[in-house]
Amino acid sequence: MLGNIFLTLSYTNGGIFMETGCIFCSIAQEKTATELLYKNHNLVVFKDIKPHAPVHLLIVPKQHIRSINDLTADDLPLVSELIVAAKNMAIEVGVKETGYKLLFNVERGGGQMVFHLHLHLIGGWIR
Ligand code: AMP
Ligand code: ZN
Repeated sequence: MLGNIFLTLSYTNGGIFMETGCIFCSIAQEKTATELLYKNHNLVVFKDIKPHAPVHLLIVPKQHIRSINDLTADDLPLVSELIVAAKNMAIEVGVKETGYKLLFNVERGGGQMVFHLHLHLIGGWIR
């Protein structure tokens, strides 16, 4: 019965859940040429390939989580870490004082195109 065949596309890397074919998993694992502006055990930061503003960074957990909809209470420390990392990057790239936007697009109707959780840091219009 074909209906009972499942393809397993997920695996772990150092205890972190990854998804085969996911561009942000590949970037987080440094399997692409994308320059990481910051990385630690839990997350990476890199420039958006198609920036919507003078500063447009993506703060991306190493763990493959599809979207905000898939978060659980266990993920609270990770979400906090994404936000604090965004604030630190805002200092780093000089938009802390002028201000910036932090944005999660959620699923297709919310404008999400890459289904691996990420936080947009957008700003730099005023210098
Ligand atoms: P979202 O619409 O919230 O899913 O945002 C996905 C973002 O990822 C878009 O702003 C894209 O420009 C960006 N993006 C997609 N592929 C890459 C990539 N390879 N490197 C950097 N940014 C990317
Ligand atoms: Zn992923």
